[in-house]
Amino acid sequence: MNNAIPENTILTCGCCGEYFSTDSDYEDQGQDVGFGICPSCDEDAGKRSAEFYDETISLISNALEGDKKQRFDQQPRIRQEAIVRHCMDKGILRWHIGQ
Ligand SMILES: [Zn+2]
Repeated sequence: MNNAIPENTILTCGCCGEYFSTDSDYEDQGQDVGFGICPSCDEDAGKRSAEFYDETISLISNALEGDKKQRFDQQPRIRQEAIVRHCMDKGILRWHIGQ
């Protein structure tokens, strides 16, 4: 359950270290008290996440053949992302930082 953080609360971004003021729809990001994730870093994280899924879904698709490839490619994106997470949980795929 997210804690409500009042609008215009000044927080320190736990990602870039800059101060920022919360807006009305800011949700608690699970950071320490007085910290949060600024809109810019939040947007960057969303882009990185989308890029990660794009690359990994393509990796899985390219590793499959025939019916399996066709079935995977026809899944909705949300299901493909769930398969990626499942493969990571099972240790079939590993996530790493950097190149
Ligand atoms: Zn930031």
